[in-house]
Amino acid sequence: MSDTLETDYLIVGAGAAGMAFADALLTHSDASVTVVDRRHAPGGHWLDAYPYVRLHQPSAFYGVSSVPLGQDVIDTQGTNAGFYELANADEIRAYFTRVMEQHLLPSGRVTYLPSSDHLGAGQVRSRLADRSWDVRVRRKTIDTTYLEGHVPATSPPPFEVASGVRCVSAGELARTSERPERYVVIGAGKTAVDACLWLLDQSVPPASIRWVKPRESWWMNRRFHQPLTLLPDFLHGTATQLEAIAQASSIPDLFARLEAQGFFLRVDAEEPATMCRGAIVSEVELARLRQITDVVRMGHVRRITTNEIVLDGGSVPTTAAALHVHCAARGLARPPLRPIFEADRITVQPFMWSFACYQFAMLGVAEALVPSDEDKNRLFPPMAYWDANADYLSTFLAALANEQARATVPALAQWAKATRLNPLGQIGLHREHPRVADAMGRIKHFGPDAFKNGRQLLRAQATP
Ligand SMILES: Cc1cc2nc3c(=O)[nH]c(=O)nc-3n(C[C@H](O)[C@H](O)[C@H](O)COP(=O)(O)OP(=O)(O)OC[C@H]3O[C@@H](n4cnc5c(N)ncnc54)[C@H](O)[C@@H]3O)c2cc1C
Repeated sequence: MSDTLETDYLIVGAGAAGMAFADALLTHSDASVTVVDRRHAPGGHWLDAYPYVRLHQPSAFYGVSSVPLGQDVIDTQGTNAGFYELANADEIRAYFTRVMEQHLLPSGRVTYLPSSDHLGAGQVRSRLADRSWDVRVRRKTIDTTYLEGHVPATSPPPFEVASGVRCVSAGELARTSERPERYVVIGAGKTAVDACLWLLDQSVPPASIRWVKPRESWWMNRRFHQPLTLLPDFLHGTATQLEAIAQASSIPDLFARLEAQGFFLRVDAEEPATMCRGAIVSEVELARLRQITDVVRMGHVRRITTNEIVLDGGSVPTTAAALHVHCAARGLARPPLRPIFEADRITVQPFMWSFACYQFAMLGVAEALVPSDEDKNRLFPPMAYWDANADYLSTFLAALANEQARATVPALAQWAKATRLNPLGQIGLHREHPRVADAMGRIKHFGPDAFKNGRQLLRAQATP
């Protein structure tokens, strides 16, 4: 059976991007919206997430602008003690369902088509029933899938696994009932970190864990990513970055300076870190990870047999009694950039360093309140997801410059100040705090030189 539906906006994807965009657009316009997702519920990749995943940033600034996530409580126990709570996967899934059922749908302006594929050009087909829709879009289609990532739960291992080898995803790890001789965690990113921390939490001795890391990563210190009462440290972190960028003699020197200030962290201080994807950890988590000393650094895994793990740079022995944990999915996609705003389409891409939901929502506000696509594209130039160390510097500088341009548009500036998704929006409340006064002074002092020197560092890095 085929139906015709008319809508102002068709949003493809009910993940954090589609939900934050829809909420912002509905709040700031009288538009109607149709949301389609092939998954059965809102929340996107969180529906497939491993059970022990949590946000790596506080819940206080994640989700949609109109509906708070969590209670803004500071944890007193565990590896996040002293910092604002981090929602887990169950909380995030329940949150997005609540946002859809109690907030978006009751507006009377939202049609939600779950378990349905968008085939392109407004054609939507149910995955479960003999039903399809021809969605006639009056204004624009919002594509939140352009950068859709790959998570281990939904992607096979990017290496061969011989028969007889025990290899599970990070999610299956939590359901393992047979105790292996040893755990071999494969991957250098956030999923691998979470798997290692979870095993240690389950009283697995560090000596029973082997960690296969193709690269060493830089991590951002959670201390400098705190909202509300801990916001002065956030601004202190911003000032510290500008000061380091203004004074660094090279990109490695910049990271050395920021490591010395505790802003960037790495698990092994002896290993050069070449990956910087913006994930946040606490110093307590890092100290626990350092207990794992059996670390294999021979590049990417190519195949696992019952007696060896073959990597780019050699092989190490393994056994059929070991449990290999696949945490090696490709992660976020990096396709060619395209303008975010087009006549009939919005392609969701990042335009600043970090704060995913703040960005997704701001695009919805801009679509509602900034009339010309040309102006919007000037204010929101897209950037690729970061991966290498230089990406941190280029995106940090570009984001600051664009933030200054957006601050001149009153509607965007007012929203940015008020939304809970912008952790720095409330900084005015802390103006008298000595750390804030000091940070403001340093930002003013080092800001211009940071731009000048940062660009030079990037040029020098690009010149062979
Ligand atoms: C483990 C993990 C932890 C993270 N933690 C944080 C964090 O703490 N803070 C932070 O800011 N970011 C975090 N991120 C980054 C994360 O990418 C964003 O927070 C956000 O959840 C991404 O949402 P999204 O809507 O862009 O993508 P997705 O969640 O992937 O949603 C896209 C949706 O589009 C649907 N879809 C795709 N194609 C079609 C089609 N043709 N038809 C119908 N539907 C389609 C998919 O089914 C999916 O549900 C984390 C990411 C991961 C993997």
